[in-house]
Amino acid sequence: MYDLVATAPRRPGPGETLIGSQFATFVGGKGFNQAVAAARAGATTAVIGRLGEDLFAAEFREFLGAEGIGATDVSSDPEHGTGVGLPVLDETGQNSIIVIPRANLAVTVADVEAARARIESATVLLLQLELPMDATVRAARIARAAGVRVVLNPAPAATVPADLADAVDVLVPNEPELRQLTGARADELVLDVARRAAAGRSYALIVTLGPDGALVLEPGRGEVHVPGLRVDVLDTIGAGDAFCGSLGARLAAGDPITEAVAFANAAAAVSVTRRGGAASAPRRAEVLDLAG
Ligand code: ADP
Repeated sequence: MYDLVATAPRRPGPGETLIGSQFATFVGGKGFNQAVAAARAGATTAVIGRLGEDLFAAEFREFLGAEGIGATDVSSDPEHGTGVGLPVLDETGQNSIIVIPRANLAVTVADVEAARARIESATVLLLQLELPMDATVRAARIARAAGVRVVLNPAPAATVPADLADAVDVLVPNEPELRQLTGARADELVLDVARRAAAGRSYALIVTLGPDGALVLEPGRGEVHVPGLRVDVLDTIGAGDAFCGSLGARLAAGDPITEAVAFANAAAAVSVTRRGGAASAPRRAEVLDLAG
């Protein structure tokens, strides 16, 4: 997802035209950003996906190459352009985003099957909901059958079908995504909603809470709040992606979940002090510096 980012004094209301103050472009998208965060956190990383045949795609391939991320399973689509995202950022660093998935929606089950060997040889499969559901479910099932840990970031917010939920080991929504998943009321406490989402489930649930860090509910191990780090916020775009990517990397390295979450909080905290999506993901040494 190629991001075309506008900055304005505030986000526009219905029917309103605002004069913004800045414009910038970034290679982005949840899957891509998370892959970059995972690679920078130290994991050997490869991406499955689809790009158009356009200038945006060329920029993506160059970035993946520079980060040492495998792109053999990223196909070129002659029909659909590279997906685009249109974030609007206000002066407080809050964002609203429109996403037009284009080539991402052309990823097929056959594409995933073509990447079967790569999935089966992985330690962690990190999924988002930016690709067609049948392809996503197939990837999860291949991983599950091979004993590869499946981490799902259910974003952009959507309901997760039962056949996907059943193949997930770690579910990582932010608070709005959790509420969407469970159909929770706005006035319900996040802990109550999380307990409901985790009840009777075999997956670990990690709910990210912005500056407050994350809640972890592990089956048979209870609930832990892992606090966030205090930083000067510049841009919250990509916070959840920095979190998920570095979480995946630390789980792949063998960390227990709460340790991996503490690292992910620190990585995401560094990312919000910088502008941009993927490029704001920190390297492992920078995270360890902040975490002390
Ligand atoms: P998303 O980016 O998906 O909306 P969150 O807002 O929950 O998700 O942020 C994800 C993670 O990023 C949080 O769990 C936290 O670790 C970190 N984070 C987000 N905002 C801040 C902040 N203002 N200060 C410090 N850490 C933050």
